[in-house]
Amino acid sequence: MTRFAAPKIIACPTCKGYLHQLRIATFHCNPSAVRYWTDGVHSSGFEVIKSPLLHCPECATPFWKNDAKVIGELPDEPRKMDWFDIIYAKLTGDKERKFAAQRHWESIPEEIKSANPGKPTNIGDWLTILYGSAGLSPERESITRRKLWQEGNNHLRLRSDGTPWVDSPKLANDFVKQNMLALLHLHERNFVNDPIEKAEILRQLGRFDEARGVLETIRSDHLTMMASQIRMLIDVTSSEVQLVNYGETYTNSK
Ligand SMILES: [Zn+2]
Repeated sequence: MTRFAAPKIIACPTCKGYLHQLRIATFHCNPSAVRYWTDGVHSSGFEVIKSPLLHCPECATPFWKNDAKVIGELPDEPRKMDWFDIIYAKLTGDKERKFAAQRHWESIPEEIKSANPGKPTNIGDWLTILYGSAGLSPERESITRRKLWQEGNNHLRLRSDGTPWVDSPKLANDFVKQNMLALLHLHERNFVNDPIEKAEILRQLGRFDEARGVLETIRSDHLTMMASQIRMLIDVTSSEVQLVNYGETYTNSK
């Protein structure tokens, strides 16, 4: 079962409004229920928790979680004490610290208690970051371009019931290609060290021989099912994103 930790209260770097940021204490999921795609997307959920970028519901601006000032943690609201709790606490010197918890809760400013959760990001947020951020670091540029690359594949992804994630492409073909080339360039300049992702980008660009060459640099004991499936797709000159089929075993052709 997934358990949540006390949410962090953070301040939006733009409007300084307080937001609460959900956090997971323990995460359990059935691995066989998670669907993986060859571009690294998976369906384990909790997008707003995993994403390094949040959307402020107050000023509609995206921001990096790491740039937000941490104000504190918001504990669970203590249960209202009934007459028995009050007598018991008085008799035992507040042994169970229920009075203390009530006092602590009452001392928390109302603007923190009523902080809204940060919202999940949309494509527009990532485009804003890409084009509107002065001095975007190579690390953040790679995160942004990876997300836009994956968003550009969403119309090719199917849910388990067979319906598409989105009805039509949300990004123009020219942008998708230019973005993939820019992400590839970040790999080539060693700002990203992920040969499987590099091979997948090359495959989706139709550069099959180069993609195969990248996979051949991976030690055989580091070859994952994902890499094996990408290699199989290269062999049949397929360039679309694919669901990784962990239920079958692929044999490397070389
Ligand atoms: Zn804001």
